[in-house]
Amino acid sequence: MRILVVEDEHLIANSIKKGLEQEHYAVDIAFSGDDGFDLACGEEYDLLILDLMLPGMDGLTICRELRQKQIHTPVLILTAKGQIEDKVSGLDAGADDYLTKPFSFEELLARVRALSRRPQNMLGTVLAAEDLKLDTGSFRVERNGRNISLSAREFSLLEFLLRHAGKILSKDQIINHVWNYDADILPNTVEVYIRNLRRKIDLPFKGQKPLIHTVRGFGYRLGENYV
Ligand code: CA
Repeated sequence: MRILVVEDEHLIANSIKKGLEQEHYAVDIAFSGDDGFDLACGEEYDLLILDLMLPGMDGLTICRELRQKQIHTPVLILTAKGQIEDKVSGLDAGADDYLTKPFSFEELLARVRALSRRPQNMLGTVLAAEDLKLDTGSFRVERNGRNISLSAREFSLLEFLLRHAGKILSKDQIINHVWNYDADILPNTVEVYIRNLRRKIDLPFKGQKPLIHTVRGFGYRLGENYV
């Protein structure tokens, strides 16, 4: 696993590098946006850890331009505390996950592990269940040929359900993967989002089988129990 860290704060960059190297990752650092972009384009990385505020190209621009160049290396963005809009724009720009500063190394490591488990060829490709399709590269969702518009969070939730289609997912699993380390998430937030998703991907399609199932006492499942 080779990781590129693009971060202009030397202390943070060096401590991430040191920590990840102890976990046997190979780590390169770029201290400016332009250097980071050049390295990300020219070298093969398994993961990019990308700060947003950088000298030269900023993190969002880097992410967007990489995706435009069809470079689908997973991207973990680092955002400043409380800047919700940064997280949303990061996901819109094609990032895979984000981490709010300040973070503990354990949090970072958990994200790195999760992202490196995601097979590269699943990124920027189409996940499907029955007649529902989700394109992780273009952020398009359609069912039965009809385009469905989702918010960034709804999209992440649906993507998580699709990646585990046929399996029961608990609210805690959903919170940990879709909301990550935001502190203010209540279990019924998941219910609200599930209801919104149903309203968009199930209710308008009367003739089709419902895709989102509530498994009472356990959680939710997308699609049939075929696993
Ligand atoms: Ca910075």
